[in-house]
Amino acid sequence: LGMPSVPTKLADRRVSRKIQVGSVAVGGDAPVSVQSMTTTRTSDIGATLQQIAELTASGCQIVRVACPTQDDADALPIIARKSQIPVIADIHFQPKYVFAAIDAGCAAVRVNPGNIKQFDDKVKEIAKAASATGTPIRIGVNAGSLDARLLQKYGKATPEALVESALWEASLFEEHGFRDIKISVKHNDPVVMVNAYRQLAAQCDYPLHLGVTEAGPAFQGTIKSAVAFGALLSEGIGDTIRVSLSAPPAEEIKVGIQILESLNLRQRRLEIVSCPSCGRAQVDVYKLAEEVTAGLEGMEVPLRVAVMGCVVNGPGEAREADLGVASGNGKGQIFVKGEVIKTVPESKIVETLIEEALKLAEQMEKDGIAS
Ligand code: SF4
Repeated sequence: LGMPSVPTKLADRRVSRKIQVGSVAVGGDAPVSVQSMTTTRTSDIGATLQQIAELTASGCQIVRVACPTQDDADALPIIARKSQIPVIADIHFQPKYVFAAIDAGCAAVRVNPGNIKQFDDKVKEIAKAASATGTPIRIGVNAGSLDARLLQKYGKATPEALVESALWEASLFEEHGFRDIKISVKHNDPVVMVNAYRQLAAQCDYPLHLGVTEAGPAFQGTIKSAVAFGALLSEGIGDTIRVSLSAPPAEEIKVGIQILESLNLRQRRLEIVSCPSCGRAQVDVYKLAEEVTAGLEGMEVPLRVAVMGCVVNGPGEAREADLGVASGNGKGQIFVKGEVIKTVPESKIVETLIEEALKLAEQMEKDGIAS
């Protein structure tokens, strides 16, 4: 009898239609992208562009800006032109800002046509303008702003209610032949959210934007998002993600990227494999791991660095990694690519690891392995 086979990959990706958000493809075979939203007043062009630059530097691929006033709409042309990444204008209720965003060259618009249906013919005109410029629309259904009709029908924002709302919104565009759409059905409860996306995924081929809305402060929001996105992405559902945190937007990007790397949906960059420490530890593992992480922050190569507290699992893990240390007796054995290259006193472990990591990174960059 052979050994049972161990799955090494997730379910195949759901087949969704591909749309183009500026330079970033979403859906189809495009890699899952990470996005966030600015927290500045959009009308404050300098501050908004500054935040977009920070987000871009942290790996954000698509950015959304709110557009609740005319001043915000007036700022869109410059922001769309100067941003290094595609800009999506987020609009509620006001069709005139949708036209302004399309004219401004925004890469996409988030708007729910149900909100603007009351304005005769506006949905048709938006479909026409968006088709003419190739501007996709995101329909963003949110538990907190669910249509009163559906709230009444279902009693609360159930997965069925969210999905019915999203498909109805999409149908308002489909009536005019417009299908350049992506959809989100966000809820603050990951279980409701996961079920909503599962149902939606089975009922349409639009690309899906994943989000747990109002996920909370960084710790709770990170876990809620990781659990929900992990469940969906492991089933092949999800084409772009936004982690919502009550924290600076660049934090959302860090978490989003980490989720994709953890699922092997994106090549891992620096990965610190450190032990949790235990009664056998012969060094302060937390401090060591923190210092090594801080020393290597920003490194773009897929380097795996093991920081182990003792010689039980230490040498094994350190050998599996590109680089590692196994500590004991006030010393650290430094491993590079599975070989012990030297033994250094405890006080020199951090600087030696950083030095060796930089050498490896340089070699990887030369070999073209940078991510
Ligand atoms: Fe404990 Fe050593 Fe394992 Fe770290 S490597 S958790 S110190 S046994």
